[in-house]
Amino acid sequence: METRLDRYQGARENKIKQLKDLIEESERIVFLGGAGVSTESGIPDFRSGDGIYNQESGLAYRAVDVISHSFFMEHPDDFYDFYRRKLLYPDAKPNKAHKALVRLEKRGKLSAIITQNIDKLHQDAGSKKTIELHGSVFRNHCMSCGKKFRLDYILNTTGVPHCDRCGGIVRPDITLYEENLEHDKVDAAIKSLKKCDLLIIGGTSLTVYPAATFSQFIKHDKVVIINKSSTYLDLSAKLTIHDSIGDVLDEAIPRRRTPEQIKKDEKLIAKNKAREKAALEKAKLKEKGK
Ligand SMILES: [Zn+2]
Repeated sequence: METRLDRYQGARENKIKQLKDLIEESERIVFLGGAGVSTESGIPDFRSGDGIYNQESGLAYRAVDVISHSFFMEHPDDFYDFYRRKLLYPDAKPNKAHKALVRLEKRGKLSAIITQNIDKLHQDAGSKKTIELHGSVFRNHCMSCGKKFRLDYILNTTGVPHCDRCGGIVRPDITLYEENLEHDKVDAAIKSLKKCDLLIIGGTSLTVYPAATFSQFIKHDKVVIINKSSTYLDLSAKLTIHDSIGDVLDEAIPRRRTPEQIKKDEKLIAKNKAREKAALEKAKLKEKGK
């Protein structure tokens, strides 16, 4: 007799198969990922039950208020106290989700990873086409003279880190609340979304700006959602899977390819190269024409 678990397993397998087929027939996939991609690497997210916003901040302020521009300017010492305890995970390692996306990129099928995460795990896994919408804790700069600092500098100092050249305050290159996102990153993200033939949204409840608005650039029948909890796009998306992003991507993007897939991928990679070359030449001509 078929049990409820059997039915659940059957439905899940069916969805993974659908995702596999969609990936197989797509050539310009964009992955849009949020904090849920990093939780499987031991980095807590912000909004879930045991997320950072629901933990004790250890300060007299709410966590959500601490990560704002005005708070940073008024209380840099409290900001850094919170930041070092709650936002830095220098030893975190890429998980199954990051690794599966590297396999997809190597097949020539992935045109961009747009991430809301600031932990560099996609690059650590080997992804080249990552757009870090909210910046990275691995890059820092002096607010007075602009000198750049690595994460080590923050880790090896206590209190508010000051520039060793001019004494100015050093801050991370991340976008705090009340601050604008970097234009070039948003532009690059929108450009890739407009050109993609499949958008996989994973590990985000799609409540954070601007990711929440990105779906307007793409037809919903080209959207796949993989998230543990529901999102406002669930019903209009082509496919919705409520499950672990690491498990789903690991299963949907196999480690081994068939000889036919290898042949197809080689063709696609050649096509991508030709397209990039043509775009480069077009840009050169435009430059000359100026
Ligand atoms: Zn300086």
